[in-house]
Amino acid sequence: MGIKYIFITGGVVSSLGKGITAASIGSILEDRGFTVALMKFDPYLNVDPGTMSPFQHGEVYVTDDGAETDLDLGHYYRFTHSPLSRASNITSGIIYDSVIKNERRGDYLGQTVQVIPHVTDEIKKRIEDLTHENKGVQFVIVEIGGTVGDIESLPFLEAIRQFRYARPKNCVNIHLTYVPYLKAAAEVKTKPTQHSVQALRQIGIVPDIILCRCEIPLSLEIKEKISLLCNVPTVIDEHDVNVSIYEVPLNLKRQKLDDSLLHMLGLTAPEGELKSWKEIIHILSNPKKKVTIGIVGKYIEHQDAYKSIFEALQHGAIAHEAELVLKKIESSKVKSLHDIEGCDGYLVPGGFGERGWLGKILTAKYSRENGIPYFGICLGMQIMVVEFANNVLNLSHANSTEIDPTTPDPVISLLPEQKEIKEKGGTMRLGLYRCTITPHTKAFLAYGRGEIKERHRHRYEFNNRYKRSFEEKGFCFSGIWEEGKLVEMVELKDHPWMLATQFHPEFSSKPFSPHPLFTAFIGAAITYHA
Ligand code: GLN
Repeated sequence: MGIKYIFITGGVVSSLGKGITAASIGSILEDRGFTVALMKFDPYLNVDPGTMSPFQHGEVYVTDDGAETDLDLGHYYRFTHSPLSRASNITSGIIYDSVIKNERRGDYLGQTVQVIPHVTDEIKKRIEDLTHENKGVQFVIVEIGGTVGDIESLPFLEAIRQFRYARPKNCVNIHLTYVPYLKAAAEVKTKPTQHSVQALRQIGIVPDIILCRCEIPLSLEIKEKISLLCNVPTVIDEHDVNVSIYEVPLNLKRQKLDDSLLHMLGLTAPEGELKSWKEIIHILSNPKKKVTIGIVGKYIEHQDAYKSIFEALQHGAIAHEAELVLKKIESSKVKSLHDIEGCDGYLVPGGFGERGWLGKILTAKYSRENGIPYFGICLGMQIMVVEFANNVLNLSHANSTEIDPTTPDPVISLLPEQKEIKEKGGTMRLGLYRCTITPHTKAFLAYGRGEIKERHRHRYEFNNRYKRSFEEKGFCFSGIWEEGKLVEMVELKDHPWMLATQFHPEFSSKPFSPHPLFTAFIGAAITYHA
C-alpha cells in the first residue's frame, strides 16, 4: 500500500483538543495493525516554542534528539508508538528560515520568491522528509495548528490542498469543529460548523469527515443536519469525557471512525478492540486507594504548563490502581507551611527564574524534615540541592547562580561552555544523555538497571566542587553522566523517598508503561499515606 495521509484541521475556536484527537486516531489505527507517524505544523513565527513563556504556550515537550516542541507531541507519545523527532513539529519560523536561507544561497535561480510556490513547496517537503526519515510508516497524520480563518495558517492549508491534489486516493481531510450547546435555548447549534466548513471550501479543501467537539453526545438528527448542510456524509461527535482523556480513542472507535477511514482509503484490516485502553479506563473508574500529590510550581495557573507531569503522575497512580488527587500549589503564593501541608508527596517541577523560588525551597525542607516523599525534576533537583546546602551543610547563602549570581557558594552553576552562549533559542543542554546509576540506591531499585538515557532541557548543573561535603551528610549522587561528569540524579540516604533528577522523566511515560520513577514516587506516597 502507498503511504496514507490524514490531515486534521480545526475550526470555530482553538483549544478543542486537536492534538488528543490526532493522537487518538493514531492509536485506533495502530490497534488495527498499522504503523503511524504523527506530525504537527504550527503557524507561529517562533522557530520553536522553546523561547515562549509557559503562560503563552504551555509546556515545551522535548524529543530524544533535543527538539523543543509543541505539547501535542506529548499526546502523540503517550497515545501511540509514533516516531518523534525534530522533523515532527514544523513551525512557520522553520519554514521561512529555510526559504530565506535558500534564497540567500541563490538556490531559486533568479526567481521571485513567493508564498506560493516556495513556501508551500517547503511545507510539502517537510511531510515527505518525515516519510523518508521513517521508512515503513503506513499512515502519516498531520495536525495543522491554529483555526481555519487565521491569516497565518493559510500557507499550510494551501500546501495540504496541493499535497492531496497530487495523491487524490491517499489522503483524507478531517475537520474538527465546535458545536456549542446553548443553555438558554436548550439546543445545540450547528451554524459555526457550517461556516467553518464553508471557509475551508473557499480555499479548496473539502473535508471527508467532520468531528464535532461538544459537551454532550449529539443526536442522530443533529449529525444528519450537519452532514446535509455541510455536504459531508461522515459526522462523528467527540463529546466531553467523564473519566479521562484516555476515553477519546474508545469514543471514536464506538462511532467506527477507523472503519470510515479505512473505507475511504480502500483498505481492510483485522478488527481491533482497544483492549489496553479499556483496561486503563477500568482501573481509573475502580480505584482501590487514593493518593494526594502536591505540585508546587510557578506556572500552575496555566492548565497546560505541566501537562506531561500531570499525565506521568496519573500513569504512576494507574500502576498502583490508585485514584490520583492533584493539589496544584502556586509557588509564589506559598507563605507558610499551611499553604502546602496535607499531601502524601510533593513534586517540584522544572522552571526558570526567581519567582516562586522560596515556596519551592520550603516544600523541599518540609518534605526532608518530615520524611514525606519528594520528587524534584530539573529545577526541582536544583531546589533540593540548594535547600540541603542551606539547612544541612549550613551554607546559608548557597544558591544557584541563576537566582543569585554573586552567591559565595554556587552549588548550582553554569558550565564554562554555557557561559559563552549568548543566543537563547535551542542552546540549553537538550535531548537524550546517558546516565549511570549507582547500585543499591532508590534510583537503581526503581529502574532495575544501571544504565539509562533520559531527556534534558536546562542550562545549570550541580557544581562538582561541593560533592564531597554533600556526601558526608548523607546526600547520594545516584545518577551520573560519566562522559561529561555531570550529576543526573540525587537522593537522600536517610529518607523514605526524596529523589530528584536533572533530566525530565515525565516526557517518556505512557499510560501502559508508566515511567519507573513516577511509579516509585507514587508507591512511596501511598506508603506514607498508610
Ligand atoms: N532553570 C534551570 C536551568 O536552566 C532549570 C530548567 C528546567 O527546570 N527545565 O538549569
